[in-house]
Amino acid sequence: MENFDLHNHSTRSDGLLSPTQLIELAARAGVDAVALTDHDTTEGLVEAAEAARNIGVEWIAGVEISVTWGDTTLHIVGLGIDPSAKAMVDGLQSIRDGRWGRAERVAKILEGLGMPGTLQGALALAPNESMLSRTHFARHLVDTGAVKDTQKAFDKYLGKGKPAYVAHQWATLPEAIRWIRESGGVAVLAHPGRYDLKPWARGELLEEFRRLGGEAIEVVTGSHRPEQYAMWKRMAEEYGLLASRGADYHGPGESPYEPGKLPPLPKTLTPVWSKWRH
Ligand code: AMP
Ligand code: MN
Ligand code: MN
Ligand code: MN
Repeated sequence: MENFDLHNHSTRSDGLLSPTQLIELAARAGVDAVALTDHDTTEGLVEAAEAARNIGVEWIAGVEISVTWGDTTLHIVGLGIDPSAKAMVDGLQSIRDGRWGRAERVAKILEGLGMPGTLQGALALAPNESMLSRTHFARHLVDTGAVKDTQKAFDKYLGKGKPAYVAHQWATLPEAIRWIRESGGVAVLAHPGRYDLKPWARGELLEEFRRLGGEAIEVVTGSHRPEQYAMWKRMAEEYGLLASRGADYHGPGESPYEPGKLPPLPKTLTPVWSKWRH
């Protein structure tokens, strides 16, 4: 199998490495192609393109869009997008705009729980102020000793159903898929095993995703436990979807796999990169 890694973050969203450092790390791992897929922003793609050109590694322009589907937050990855497409630019701007007000509410709750100053603390860790995310709050809570690692910060405070979780309206599923398709990209449902959905809702999601023009799901991802791969392989087959593979790398010590180091996709699946390779 070719070593494609199609889901990774940089400091433009909640990753710890710059786009250049990310591309270099992936190239050292020997990837055939790497995608940068920051949350709700394409700001890192110019730097990633330049780094990839200098190193001579194939790369793919991507994004990971936050979506609200019922009361579930989904992530939809767009691959092979044109980041200058108006639908994408305007769409991403509209969802980034909500982040600041949400962060203020998270900080207020944390203050009420005896942790003052978390908005400034999280902001100090966010190189891109317009992409302030829960990950930055989590890192700040680690730095202040409130929790021992970022996972604990989500388990105790920031995760869904926890005291500092603030429900938020992101893009709708039709919007996210439309922005991706209008910018020439392929829509991929990110880490489907991570959503807390009943089996009937999972089926409904895959049906709707496909009906709206979604084409692939992540099967082998750093955000699935290896024992989840088999189930999502079956779902890809059952719903006639292409399969994607990506580390969902955020940085040293925060992600189970470095870019390009995941197990391969199951051989019977059609990889999403078959779209670009004929
Ligand atoms: P946000 O877009 O601000 O809601 O932040 C979402 C990001 O937080 C995700 O992309 C992950 O990087 C991280 N995240 C969300 N849930 C968890 C969790 N349960 N454990 C660890 N990281 C998480
Ligand atoms: Mn993230
Ligand atoms: Mn995600
Ligand atoms: Mn991600």
